[in-house]
Amino acid sequence: MKKTNIVVIGAGIAGLSAAIYLKRANADFVILENSLPGGLLNKLHKVENYPGVPNTTGGDILISLMEQVRNLGIEIKYGSVQTILKEEDGFEVVTDKDSYDCQAVIVAAGRKIEGVTIKGEKEFAGRGVSYCATCDGNFFKGADVAVIGNNDIVLEESLYLANLVKKLYLCVPGEKLEGTDSLLLKVKQKENIEILLNSNVDEIVGDDIGVNGIKVNGKEIPVWGVFPFVGTKSSDEFLSNLKPEQDNFGVKVNEEMMSNIPGLFFAGDIVSKKLKQLVTAASDGAIAATSAGRFIK
Ligand SMILES: Cc1cc2nc3c(=O)[nH]c(=O)nc-3n(C[C@H](O)[C@H](O)[C@H](O)COP(=O)(O)OP(=O)(O)OC[C@H]3O[C@@H](n4cnc5c(N)ncnc54)[C@H](O)[C@@H]3O)c2cc1C
Repeated sequence: MKKTNIVVIGAGIAGLSAAIYLKRANADFVILENSLPGGLLNKLHKVENYPGVPNTTGGDILISLMEQVRNLGIEIKYGSVQTILKEEDGFEVVTDKDSYDCQAVIVAAGRKIEGVTIKGEKEFAGRGVSYCATCDGNFFKGADVAVIGNNDIVLEESLYLANLVKKLYLCVPGEKLEGTDSLLLKVKQKENIEILLNSNVDEIVGDDIGVNGIKVNGKEIPVWGVFPFVGTKSSDEFLSNLKPEQDNFGVKVNEEMMSNIPGLFFAGDIVSKKLKQLVTAASDGAIAATSAGRFIK
């Protein structure tokens, strides 16, 4: 077993931001990644809301981020975290290769989009199919769109979109709209949201330009944008042992980014918060790193 003070899980923007703050504070830490460093940054074709860098791409942000990481001498270790065990004086983080004995953990493992579930979803990804209303909603100003899913995240994204689009079809794959009461009320009161219960979305249809409709229960509805939120979930299987407190938006943390388990910090999209964006993920990472540094002292 290897020993270190802090383990950071995930090298997306939240984990890399934490690593930069830890390194500059001369902390003893390890950052673990099970795939390509950068996480979702590798997939963002267009980013228009990152302060100071208008009209950029996830790839361009990642290139300068990795240069900063390399220049600081941060080494990203490859390993897939399988579980975290609570020990008397800290944690044991177990990967598929090694295990690390540490005093604090920063979990920055993001959320993952599950496999494609609807016909046409993959074909039109980035051409009318989007998984982030805050990021892409602007492209659908004044248009008709469809949102598919049934939970608090779906309700939040629908409320955000409804302020931009002309009409929003909320396709619910069940006989009842689910979510917290206050959100349900707001969605039901929004005049341009039409809730379609028992919706089986058979297909997303379109042409060379992009999406132009969805087929719901055999009937075609013309829309320019589709937001399928049926398959996103936290990358948190390895937390099943510790079970930090969660709600419908992710793991609950205090203002220091610490969960209800002392020494277990979270950053980025895995955290319970309504604005899951690059700028908030980077901020979470910075706060979690400085808090973890204080914690181990
Ligand atoms: C389609 C889309 C468009 C978006 N557009 C924008 C935009 O325009 N502007 C904006 O600000 N935000 C945008 N976002 C949101 C933004 O991408 C995220 O908020 C941000 O990237 C989250 O960063 P993160 O570090 O928390 O998670 P991620 O980027 O998901 O990184 C998590 C990392 O943890 C790793 N990991 C997971 N599990 C393990 C494990 N068990 N062991 C080791 N490593 C693990 C993953 O491989 C990954 O690299 C968009 C999101 C989507 C889906």
